[in-house]
Amino acid sequence: MKGLTVIVTGGSRGLGKAIALAFAAEGAKVGLLCRRSYETAREVARQIEREGGVAWAYPCDVADCGAVNSTVGDVFRKAGSLDLIVNNAGVSHSSLLLKTDEGTWDAVLATNLTGAFNLTRAALPYMLRQRRGHIVNIGSLSAIQGIMGSVAYCASKAGLIGLTLSSAREYGSRGIAVNAVLPGYMPTEMGKAMPPASREAILSENVLGRGSTPEDVARFIVRLVQTEGVSGQVFNLDSRPWW
Ligand code: NDP
Repeated sequence: MKGLTVIVTGGSRGLGKAIALAFAAEGAKVGLLCRRSYETAREVARQIEREGGVAWAYPCDVADCGAVNSTVGDVFRKAGSLDLIVNNAGVSHSSLLLKTDEGTWDAVLATNLTGAFNLTRAALPYMLRQRRGHIVNIGSLSAIQGIMGSVAYCASKAGLIGLTLSSAREYGSRGIAVNAVLPGYMPTEMGKAMPPASREAILSENVLGRGSTPEDVARFIVRLVQTEGVSGQVFNLDSRPWW
C-alpha cells in the first residue's frame, strides 16, 4: 500500500476512522472527508501523522457535487495519485414510511447514495488515467432484509448495491475494481442511535452472538483491496443468515 492514496468519506469517526487508520498503518496516504465534524477529522489526520503517515482532512459534504470535485482534485494534487476510494459516509433515520417526510427521504438518499455517486464520478477519471483503482462502497444487510422504521436508509443501501454492480461492469476492463462491503451492527455513533428494540433484534439473529467492530471491517477492506481480481461483489460481514 506504500505510496497509494485513499479517500475515505466519513473519516472523522466510527468505521471511517478505523478504515483511515488501517490504510495509513499500511503506508497509504489518506484523504479524510466529513461534513460537520472537521475538527475531529483533523485530529484523526494528526494521529496518522504522529504515527509517521500522511493524511489530510477536509470539510466536504458528499452530497455537494462541486465540493466533492474540488476536494478530489486537491487530494490528487497533494498526493500525486488516487488509487482507492471508500464510500463510507452515511446517515440513518428512524421513522415508519408513513411518517417519513420528503426532506428526510431526500437527505438520507443525498448522503448515502448520491454522495457515493458523486465521489465515484469525481475519482474515476484519475483512476482511469492510471488504469488501476479500487472503489469500496459501504452498504448494509438492511438493503436486502429491510428494517422496520428505516425505509430511506434501506432504500439508499439497496441503491448502493446497484451502483456497485453497474460501475464494476462499466470499468472492470479498464482496471477498476468495485465492491460493496456490508458490516454487521457496530456500536458507533450511528449504531448507538438505533432504537434498542431494533438493535436487540439484529444482534439476537447473529450466529456469532455479536456484531462487527469497526476494526474487523477495516481489516477486511484492507485485505480486499490487496486482493487482485475481485470485482462486482457484495461481501456480507453481518453474520445473520439471510438466504
Ligand atoms: P457514524 O455516524 O459513526 O459516522 C458517520 C460518518 O459519516 C461521520 O464521519 C460523518 O461526519 C460522516 N457523514 C455523514 N454525512 C456526511 C456527508 N453528507 N458528507 C460527508 N460526511 C458525512 O456512522 P458509522 O461509522 O456507524 O457508519 C459508517 C458506514 O457504515 C455508514 O455508511 C453506515 O450506513 C454503515 N453501516 C453502519 C452500521 C452500524 O451498525 N453502525 C451497520 C451497517 C452499515 P459528520 O458528522 O461530519 O457529518
